[in-house]
Amino acid sequence: MQPSFADIKDQLLALNQQGLYRSRRVVDSPQGIEVIIDGRKLINFCSNDYLGLANHPAVIKAFQSAAEQYGVGSGSAHLICGHSKVHHQLEQELAEFTGRDRALLFSTGYMANIGVISALLGRSDGVFEDRLNHASLLDGGLLSGAQFKRYRHGDIEHLQTRLQASKSNNKLIVSDGVFSMDGDLAPVKKLAELSQQVDAWLMIDDAHGLGVLGDQGRGLLAHYQLSQNDVPILVGTLGKAFGTFGAFVAGSEDLIELLIHKARSYIYTTALPPAIAAATRASLKLVMAEQWRRDRLAELVQYFRRSAEQLGLALMSSTTAIQPLLIGDSQRALELSQQLWAQGYLVSAIRPPTVAQGSARLRITLSALHSHEQVEGLLVALDKSQVTG
Ligand SMILES: *Cc1c(COP(=O)(O)O)cnc(C)c1O
Repeated sequence: MQPSFADIKDQLLALNQQGLYRSRRVVDSPQGIEVIIDGRKLINFCSNDYLGLANHPAVIKAFQSAAEQYGVGSGSAHLICGHSKVHHQLEQELAEFTGRDRALLFSTGYMANIGVISALLGRSDGVFEDRLNHASLLDGGLLSGAQFKRYRHGDIEHLQTRLQASKSNNKLIVSDGVFSMDGDLAPVKKLAELSQQVDAWLMIDDAHGLGVLGDQGRGLLAHYQLSQNDVPILVGTLGKAFGTFGAFVAGSEDLIELLIHKARSYIYTTALPPAIAAATRASLKLVMAEQWRRDRLAELVQYFRRSAEQLGLALMSSTTAIQPLLIGDSQRALELSQQLWAQGYLVSAIRPPTVAQGSARLRITLSALHSHEQVEGLLVALDKSQVTG
């Protein structure tokens, strides 16, 4: 007898009724400010390519020449024979960029996060996570088997209470640097102080800060001058402001050596294609050299917030390129996203379980390459769609 898939059908039906159904849009152009979907040109306000490097000629060129030199596939995991010279060079450059002793490349940020947390912690340990942490950090905590405690978003006192009540052996505090769906910043200075007081490790995932914040784009921790001593474990991703793909962990010699030996999502997977590492080296150069991209982005963020405020839109308390508008109801968020689409704007409706129940939102992201006119056009479209009502 065939197993019944009726239950699966029911689940899909329920998702649809709750406005939680998700479908993929097929993009038929490079990533950029304008993308082509279903033969239509849309202005893109949902990419994480904050600096506009995903389709930069120098990055493409570096990718192409490295493919000529190294081929496409890396052939195996890093520990077997897949760790090429260009991976190694990129690791050294990322360590220097973040002011850490060493960096280790991972194939994705998701894998870096689950790999680090589960390599560091076991059953007798405790992990303390901000409620709004990225799914990969939460999954890493659960996978590790450690005592898993969440604290209220950005709430240092709540975290402190949680830590004091804990009898765990090693303790690890974990937070996004810039929160991916809210755009606000973690209180990293206070987290660093508290972690020292209670003798806990601190891990910050700066996926949305690196490239965008700090001198030369060195990230949120550089912005607050927090060293490796203050924040011993730093995770960065390369698929966002860097415009390429992959991720890395940066920290002490010993931390990196331990990860090489114990992070299963590092050990048991094929290394990134070397050409991706080469493209990222080119992108890192642009990130550091082209301050105008960050200046431009900051200017657009200010412009967007000022105008949105005048229109009475439900802005959240973010100063970064992530500027969500809180809608609440999932179905409503979806309808708004569709109305924006009809007016030529691509803005995604972020719904549970990515965000909490009742906090669906339009996640608007800005890029250094948007023009004032495009942002103004989006604001007019938001106003027309009565996002406030
Ligand atoms: C995107 C993201 C990740 C995952 O990185 P990938 O390289 O896309 O797997 C991890 N953490 C945060 C905070 C992110 O926003």
